[in-house]
Amino acid sequence: MRGMVFLGNKKTEIKEFPDLVPGPGEVVINIKTSGLCGSDLHTYYAEYTDPNRIMGHEGAGIVTRIGEGVTNVKEGDRVAIYHFITCGMCRYCMSGYGQFCPDKKGLGGAADGTHAEQILVKAENCLPLPDDISFAVGAFIGCFAGTSYSAMKKLQPNGLTTLAVFGLGPVGMAGVQYAKAMGARVIGIDHIPERLNHAKELGADDVINFAEQDTVKALLEMTDGKGPELIYESSGSPQAQKNAIESAAVQGKVCLVGYNGPMSLKTDSIPNLYIAIGKELTIMGSSVMPRHHHYEIIDFIRRKNIDLEKMVTHRFPFDRIDKAFEVFDTGKTGKVIVEM
Ligand SMILES: [Zn+2]
Ligand SMILES: [Zn+2]
Repeated sequence: MRGMVFLGNKKTEIKEFPDLVPGPGEVVINIKTSGLCGSDLHTYYAEYTDPNRIMGHEGAGIVTRIGEGVTNVKEGDRVAIYHFITCGMCRYCMSGYGQFCPDKKGLGGAADGTHAEQILVKAENCLPLPDDISFAVGAFIGCFAGTSYSAMKKLQPNGLTTLAVFGLGPVGMAGVQYAKAMGARVIGIDHIPERLNHAKELGADDVINFAEQDTVKALLEMTDGKGPELIYESSGSPQAQKNAIESAAVQGKVCLVGYNGPMSLKTDSIPNLYIAIGKELTIMGSSVMPRHHHYEIIDFIRRKNIDLEKMVTHRFPFDRIDKAFEVFDTGKTGKVIVEM
């Protein structure tokens, strides 16, 4: 079977790998859709990468082989893939919050990923995908659309609130759709015109191009000088984090989701934190999602008629994944996927 690896400095290669054989409790899945994620780009840009590690962590497909003792899925089942392989036994795994498992291995990180014809995972990583939910949407729920939902559950947008979305990549764009469906007034912020237009198409009430406007000033003007009650920061830019805290309404909530590689590790990422005291802000982080949100998200998007596939602007066959990364790297796309 074939999988895609990075060779460093934006070079990709599709390589032949040995056929996957499931051990006890494991399954092999034929990948149907794999999404390119902003976090892939951190490795894409790196000078040195593991040339034998298959990348990708947003995948869905069909179970094709099951190992001994597997009972939760059978061959032919459609599944989305939870993208952390976890120990299954620690306090976090037991509560469904596998993203905090100290022994977790991320697909496309410490474990082989979804940019491949097949993947081998634990049976418990298979999240059932009903027939009315496409493979693409299943793949999205496993990463950015799950991350975004989990953050929205913390922020609780509703018809009484204005929610500002900082950064209109896929994590931000899913936030636009969710917050709108939950009833909030939504303001999207980015500097790429294509993304701002796409956010409007997906339901944003207003947008701010921070290359042309001062974000804090514009947000205050749009909210009668008060600032948005809710802020969802998906860009990971230190400047955006600063603007989020400065523009949030008194007693507002700021949820930080964006991680921008090494830039996010700067210790001065969030200056002016004292503002949070004076305004009694609630600042919180949100990281990926607990496993059970998979079911909630499917209920929610069905009930609210949210089509996450509208976020897809580019589709490529797996064989052209090199091109897919080139296009995605321009930053002008919505979601980019490869299909097998
Ligand atoms: Zn992702
Ligand atoms: Zn664990």
